[in-house]
Order: sequence, then structure tokens, then C-alpha cells
Amino acid sequence: MRTRNAVARDYYGILGVSREASDDEIKRAYRKLARQFHPDVNPDPEAQEKFKDINAAYEVLSDDRKRQIVDLGGDPLAPGGGGAGGPGGPGGAGPFVGFQDIMDAFFGGAAGGARGPRPRTRPGADAILRLELDLHETAFGVEAPITVDTAVLCTTCAGAGTAAGTHLATCEACGGRGEVQSVQRTFLGQVVSARPCTVCQGYGTTIPHPCPTCAGDGRVRTRRSLTVKIPAGVEDGMRIRLAQQGEVGPGGGTAGDLYVEIHERPHDVYSRKGDDLHCRVTVPMTAAALGTRLTIKTLDSEETVDVKAGTQPGSTLRLRARGVPHLRGTGRGDLYVHLDVRTPTKLDADQERMLRDFAKTRGEEVAELTKQGGFFSRMRDAFNGHA
Ligand SMILES: [Zn+2]
Ligand SMILES: [Zn+2]
Repeated sequence: MRTRNAVARDYYGILGVSREASDDEIKRAYRKLARQFHPDVNPDPEAQEKFKDINAAYEVLSDDRKRQIVDLGGDPLAPGGGGAGGPGGPGGAGPFVGFQDIMDAFFGGAAGGARGPRPRTRPGADAILRLELDLHETAFGVEAPITVDTAVLCTTCAGAGTAAGTHLATCEACGGRGEVQSVQRTFLGQVVSARPCTVCQGYGTTIPHPCPTCAGDGRVRTRRSLTVKIPAGVEDGMRIRLAQQGEVGPGGGTAGDLYVEIHERPHDVYSRKGDDLHCRVTVPMTAAALGTRLTIKTLDSEETVDVKAGTQPGSTLRLRARGVPHLRGTGRGDLYVHLDVRTPTKLDADQERMLRDFAKTRGEEVAELTKQGGFFSRMRDAFNGHA
């Protein structure tokens, strides 16, 4: 894959910057990638290769003289490529080139700043629960029972994680600092780096006698039942936040929040758009022509509505304030009744004769399909001037 000796490597491409990129842009691109592919973060072997490439590219592009060689088509890291290769050799990409920048990438520019042991008690995670409701429930509100699998405070140790009568002990490996420092000699001089202590996982303390109930975590998993009050007018996808009803944190830390996400089941009759409802009602052609009175069942009432004589297919009746109550404020959406006008599909001989007579009285010419060869042949005749 890497043909370093034959072809100059695309250092700009590795960092994903243009050839005109400023020093600042190069630095930013480098930090972003270093954070993503650093072996501590990304153990994937491919990521390690990539990390080496990123470092090599930064080594070259952050150095004016090496960058110039690249811009002239050369490769300053290739053997005999015109540049003084780093002491690690080509591609070895001296891991400590740009070390300060790596530290900056990870610790926000405050390399070696105070970090100390991490606390055992940490806030708990938020949890989310999906709640299916039907339209009537989302429209008018409901008190819904829910069960949630979550972490709660361990009552044996009250979150401390230690067995009764015992205490935390200072970690001997790191002396309670939570991190161990190592000093490496490099061509840049001494570099001190700190890593979280593996004995205490960075806490600075150990639990010699863990609580038998929670094994030191300070919390246990359980299934809880509670009732959530759903207000009238909620919509599909909305989330209701129940403060501190989520998971209790490690070491008995403050519980996160529980979010109940509303999922509205599709309704057989009504479709919902915001707080308005829509439904379809079929009326026979004769009723649409003559006018009629319909009884419409709404979500919570029965309404009588007049269909005017001469109603066209696709007409809509609007029933004000018969939709879903507004979640905020007062009032309700509307109910729209879409009218489908149904044409009779089977006529007996009498009905057909009456309908033809009716058409005749209206001066509407109705060709008989079987005798005149159908609509398309009539069209053809019309085009050929035989109409
Ligand atoms: Zn416990
Ligand atoms: Zn330690």
C-alpha cells in the first residue's frame, strides 16, 4: 500500500488539508486526527498505522523547509529524498516530534496540568424509555404505568462500595495520585508523561473489602415501576423528562434523568398533522349531488354536518376545535373530513336506463362503450374528423 520510495507521499492528503493550508489549519487538522487515531483511544492496528502517517505528515508540513521539499515534488522523509530524515528513520516518524502538540490535543494545551485522581462518585447516565400510546391518550393525556430497568443506590453500603466496617485504602501503586508518571529520554530532551494508574483505575484508592451486594460499584440493577403523567396534546416523538429518575451513578452518584419518548400508534380512522386531525368519509354520488346530512364520530363526540347539494369529490368539511387539544395554551386543533364521492360500480338495467335518461335531460352525451368501440376509438375518430 505504501510506496514511499517510489512516489512522494501525499502529506496534505493524509491531514486532509489543501496545499494552501495555513500553519494554523495544518495544526488544527493534525490535532483533530491525532485525537481520533491515538493508540490510547483507538487500539485498532490500522489506526496505529494511520497515527504514524499523521505524525509523519505533521512533521513535514509544520516544518517550512520540509514543506518546501514537498511542494517541489520531493519527499523529505524518503531516504535520499532531500531532507534530513528524523532520527527514527523514515516512517518511523519519530514519535516525539510534535509531542507538545499531542499533549495539547489531549489535554487542551495544559500539558502536565493538575489532573489528580478521578472521583469514585460520578453522576449517573440519563435513560430513555419508549412509551406507546394511542391517539386518545396523546390527545387527552393519561397516567401511564411504566417499568424501567435501571441502576439504583445500593442500600447495603449506601453507595460507598465498601463492606460494612471497612474503608477505602490509598492505592500503593500511585500513592493516591491516580496516575503514574514515566520519564522518557528523547532527542528533544526529557519528556514526562502521565498515565492513569492501572491498579486503582485512576481513583487513587482501592477497595480492600468490597460491599458484597454491589461488588464495590455503590449501585445495583433493578426493575422499577412508576407512573408517568402524560399531558394532553403530546405528539409522536416528544420526550417527557423525569428529573433524576434515570440511572444512579457509580459510587452512588446523583441519578441521571429519565426521558419517556412518546410513540403514537396509528389510528384506524384519523391521521394527525400537528393538532389537526384528518379523516375520509365516502358519500354516494347521489348524496353528493342532492346534499345530505352526515353523523361524524369525532375523538370525543358525535357531530352532525351538512353535505351541501353539488358537493365535488375531494371536498373538505372542517369541524372547528374537534382535533387534538393544544399542549400549550388552550383550545384544540380542527377535524377535517375529506369527502370521497363514490360512483356506483354496478347498475342493473333499470338503474342504467334511468341514469341515461337523466344524462339526456341534462344534454350530456353518453356514448355506449360496447356499440361504439370505446373511448379511445371515439378519440381517434375525433382526431380524424369523423366525430
Ligand atoms: Zn453496596
Ligand atoms: Zn493507583
